[in-house]
Amino acid sequence: MQEGLHKIVSSDETIAAVSTPLGHSGLGVVRLSGSQVQAIGNRFFRPNVPSASLDHRQSLVGKWFGLNGEQIDEVVVTFFRSPHSYTGEDILEISAHGNPLILRRILETVRSAGARLAAPGEFTLRAVAHGKMDLIQAESVREFIEAQTEQQAKTALRQMEGALSKRIRPVKDKLVGVIAQLEAGIDFAEDDVDVPSNEFVSRNLGPLCDELNALCESFGYGKILSKGLRIAILGKPNVGKSSLFNRLVSADRAIVTDIPGTTRDVLTETISIEGVPLCLADTAGVRETTDHVETIGVTRAIETLSEADLGLVVLDGSAALDRDDRQVLDKAGRIPHLLVINKSDLPQRIDKSSLNGARRVFVSARTGEGLLDLQEALRAFLLSQKTHLADDLILTSARQHDAIERSVVAVSAGVASLRSNVPHEMVLLDLYRALGALDELTGEVVTDDILERIFSTFCVGK
Ligand code: GDP
Repeated sequence: MQEGLHKIVSSDETIAAVSTPLGHSGLGVVRLSGSQVQAIGNRFFRPNVPSASLDHRQSLVGKWFGLNGEQIDEVVVTFFRSPHSYTGEDILEISAHGNPLILRRILETVRSAGARLAAPGEFTLRAVAHGKMDLIQAESVREFIEAQTEQQAKTALRQMEGALSKRIRPVKDKLVGVIAQLEAGIDFAEDDVDVPSNEFVSRNLGPLCDELNALCESFGYGKILSKGLRIAILGKPNVGKSSLFNRLVSADRAIVTDIPGTTRDVLTETISIEGVPLCLADTAGVRETTDHVETIGVTRAIETLSEADLGLVVLDGSAALDRDDRQVLDKAGRIPHLLVINKSDLPQRIDKSSLNGARRVFVSARTGEGLLDLQEALRAFLLSQKTHLADDLILTSARQHDAIERSVVAVSAGVASLRSNVPHEMVLLDLYRALGALDELTGEVVTDDILERIFSTFCVGK
């Protein structure tokens, strides 16, 4: 078992949980893991074929009985023998009918035989403890289960299969190699062991830093992928923000009126482009106003903009730009934005030469004209956020990003120390710090705090 997990995973305890969502469904699964699994199965389960017995990777149809020998359900059980199972321990999966009452009764029987209820994510935690996966893979199990778009699921699946772990391993190996060389140079300096030159060591550390940096950069897109691209629709009142919002989400969610200042709160809705969630926020019209409620709306609009990844600045193409429009353009200038010139179905009066250099799209929220161009512009923005790693590997977890960033900082500090001819003992401190951060990333060094952060958000039964 991996060091540090001893305290938490006691292998003589058998855990059990309902692994399917609560509610009525065709099937419901109770899962058990631990040393008592086979004994529990033999006690409560009778196969329909009397001579059959629980065998590795075999499913058996039969009956599950209660404590007083009464039949609870007709079930299919599948047994996995340690170490060839998800957790690395003996596992029994009991597929019963998906009735919460029945599943609870099955759970009661296994608890009466000594199994205890599993904590959230405990099956996966045990898998980590028994070396079936590392922490990065464990995190992606949750991301995979929670994925809401195909792209999120694809990325999580890649990580679950160990894409990031595979990428980190050679980096770690190289780092350990450099550390070993420096250590040897210090320990055996008098025994004719070559002390590596500072230049040679720096040359070895450079590519390592580049690789870690590339991973770090992918986090920007990873965040978009997991949390969605936040888009604020901004403009003065009556330019057609709500109409455009409705068009984009294809639902009449926002109230459309011709009375300026009717959207006073921020409405949000998520759509998806290329499998990436886009969280659209329709904000109150930005203009100077003395109305108290409208002022709150304007303040919220500006807050929404400051948190957004992209602004959609809506202008009314059928009117000349005025002071309120310029104020909006000025505010949007602080973040990447697109100009959406609306009402293209009406005669155009807007002076295009006075617009800023941001990409512009002409649309009519009323007729739907230009909407495809707008979607294309959103897609192009999304693609521009991808790094070259994106199709291959993306960091999606803040914990992973934090650990890799710390290792980049530490390796860079080591390179800087080498340049200023600091003794190798000091350089080693930086490199060990970098290695420590990478060990934390994959789970070779685990603290209770890290485990708590990862597994507390899991569902029970996984
Ligand atoms: P908001 O205050 O910016 O959210 O604007 P609304 O979406 O409430 O629209 C204000 C008014 O402009 C409404 O009467 C809409 O019907 C009208 N409107 C919105 N988009 C268009 C458009 O593309 N063409 C025309 N002709 N009218 C539009």
